[in-house]
Amino acid sequence: QAKAAGGNQVAIYTEEDAAQLHRTEELRTLLRSAPADNELMLYYQPVYEAEGRLRGFEALLRWQHPQLGLILPAEFIPLAEQGGQIVEIGEWVIREVCGMWGRVRDKGHMDLIVSVNLSPLQLAANDFVEALQRILIETSMPAECLEIEITESILIDSGKRIYNVLEQLREMGIRIALDDFGVGYASLTYLRRLPLHTLKIDRSFVQHIGEQHAETAIVRSMIALVHELGFQVVAEGVESAEQLALLKQWGCDCYQGYLLGKPMKEEAIGALPVTLESV
Ligand code: C2E
Ligand code: MG
Ligand code: MG
Ligand code: MG
Repeated sequence: QAKAAGGNQVAIYTEEDAAQLHRTEELRTLLRSAPADNELMLYYQPVYEAEGRLRGFEALLRWQHPQLGLILPAEFIPLAEQGGQIVEIGEWVIREVCGMWGRVRDKGHMDLIVSVNLSPLQLAANDFVEALQRILIETSMPAECLEIEITESILIDSGKRIYNVLEQLREMGIRIALDDFGVGYASLTYLRRLPLHTLKIDRSFVQHIGEQHAETAIVRSMIALVHELGFQVVAEGVESAEQLALLKQWGCDCYQGYLLGKPMKEEAIGALPVTLESV
């Protein structure tokens, strides 16, 4: 155990930190072969509209390692970004999602919207728009049914190029959602400048509505603001019937969360109701 003291601040490296460092380095190495070894897979979480109709799904990436078990994106996406694999992985995700959309449509779920999370590095890649166009053609995916989710971090020191790329995506008919709305540091003026369709209110706000006055006021105002700007609003992380009731009362358009459905494998989608009575 090493200790480093400075003034009244004490930093302690524990065995836990060492184990964490070791795991990170191990994951970094194993990630190189994960795509080729078919260890990456997608889970799909349903999103419902206010009337209870199934709007579609958000695709959420998982890494199933034979020895280490299930690894969540919060742990390995940053490593894929640092290691440069995120562009290749991200392209695989989009292709996979478009394939899934076709299979689910063939089973009778028409016109669903599938949402894909994008890393800022993907948008910054030179040939992103061309690659996306190619995937849409090859999979016969209608652009209007694909939604990309970006976060405010995309806007931090990104120049005019990112706006141009987003503008091109919009012209192709792809929907653009701003994910984790509320937790970023960007000013509200960017909301007017971005070609958005949807805003997703972050779970950290939704979590406390009804019990904490500030969060209740913030979420209610967010919904009103988003509607003023002409976008659709999705609430993330809805876990209780009380949260759902309040969000409905405030006119929230769509809901996603464990109350309505956890992320699931594609095989489970067929059994999902097209309308949910409880919403
Ligand atoms: P996100 O896009 O904000 O996704 C929502 C996260 O909240 C997911 O975590 C989901 O499983 C979780 N969640 C949904 N409803 C509830 C709820 O009611 N309660 C709680 N406690 N959690 C809920 P997940 O799957 O671990 O993903 C974490 C983040 O990883 C995502 O946040 C997204 O930023 C990133 N991510 C996931 N898949 C991809 C991907 O394919 N590419 C990239 N670049 N990032 C991804
Ligand atoms: Mg998301
Ligand atoms: Mg989110
Ligand atoms: Mg979130």
